[in-house]
Amino acid sequence: MRTYDADFHLHSKYSGGTSPKMVVKEIARGAVRKGLDIVGTGDILHPRWRKHVRRELEEDEHGLLREPRTGVLFVPTVEIEDRNRVHHLVILPSLDEAEDLYEDLEPHSPDITEEGRPRVDLSGAELIDLLKERECLVGPAHAFVPWTSVFKEYDSLSECYGDAVDRVDFVELGLSADSSYADRISELHDYTFLTCSDAHSPYPHRLGREFVRLELEEPSYDAIKAAMHRKPGGRVVLNVGLVPELGKYNRTACARCKRQFELEEAERLNWRCPECGGQIKKGVRDRVLELADLEEPEHPDHRPPYLRIVPLSELIAKALGISTVTAKKVNAVWSALVRRFGSEIDVLVEAPPEEVAEVDERVAELLKAFREGSVSIRPGGGGRYGEIVTGEEGEEEGESEDGRVVQRTLDDVLRG
Ligand SMILES: [Zn+2]
Ligand SMILES: [Zn+2]
Repeated sequence: MRTYDADFHLHSKYSGGTSPKMVVKEIARGAVRKGLDIVGTGDILHPRWRKHVRRELEEDEHGLLREPRTGVLFVPTVEIEDRNRVHHLVILPSLDEAEDLYEDLEPHSPDITEEGRPRVDLSGAELIDLLKERECLVGPAHAFVPWTSVFKEYDSLSECYGDAVDRVDFVELGLSADSSYADRISELHDYTFLTCSDAHSPYPHRLGREFVRLELEEPSYDAIKAAMHRKPGGRVVLNVGLVPELGKYNRTACARCKRQFELEEAERLNWRCPECGGQIKKGVRDRVLELADLEEPEHPDHRPPYLRIVPLSELIAKALGISTVTAKKVNAVWSALVRRFGSEIDVLVEAPPEEVAEVDERVAELLKAFREGSVSIRPGGGGRYGEIVTGEEGEEEGESEDGRVVQRTLDDVLRG
């Protein structure tokens, strides 16, 4: 058994709002930089993307696809939007099954030839029936976000999937939630949680900003399936994800001007923003509190630890006082640190501050503060990401305690 870091949810350049750099070569390069071993292809039902994937990757006998220059493994994936605007993440056993699934869904979709994330005129229950014919793994994507998720539409998974709810393979938590949120809902205890980036560009603060660490007997589709089902051959050993407050839908907020509201206030205002007239959208935190049937999260025995992180390049940019996360200077420090300590996660949770200081003192200081929990997060909402705020800034704005981050080392986390 060895471990693989895997990010199953991303999009190609053929999905709306994505970078033209989302092509196989750049994704593979981004995955290597980030330390990911397995990534989803994304958008695999899109005909031109599928052709590109076939040309750029070599299919092995285990159903995975290998990028020859880097050795990064890809697994066919796609996100599908159903009739009720609910997004489902799908992992497919092979490119041939993707071909067949395309044929199945083409009559039900107005945009499958054009859009990487196709819409289909099917309910969640009808969709899952078709997907299971093709041996796919499937689960709700970013389960709690206010625009396009299962819980914006329904109060339970069975309302969405009907009798097929037992065939749901996983629940993708989304950037604004973690397992301490989701495990307050006992219906979700049976499911394996996925943490995925939903990246629209290959930069290290996007690709792999959330991922799962899998222990697999061999890198194969069957072992990935075993991991989701907690059967012999594979296991999810760690969820790694953003501090939920960094997600862009964490708090209830106006979709236009981003002003945040308490849930009761939003209800009283009838979900109309008094500032700008925009629509107020329910935050993930408030949605989870509505759905929660448990006072405290109760993690089932199979639930792996959850490591909360902030993207290293965001931390570096903040420390250097640079507003662009993709700036050359930020990238130079990021690369120097990752070269020295192994991976981004190693830098974030293990690297000794004195040694980080040899690369950059300001970064070492902020990293130390992050680990000690004296870095606050200004929570995101209404489509705007949360932000790291240093101690003083946080106090000036009266940052609440629950926005704080307490970082533990990877060993602490793995020991529980
Ligand atoms: Zn989505
Ligand atoms: Zn507003």
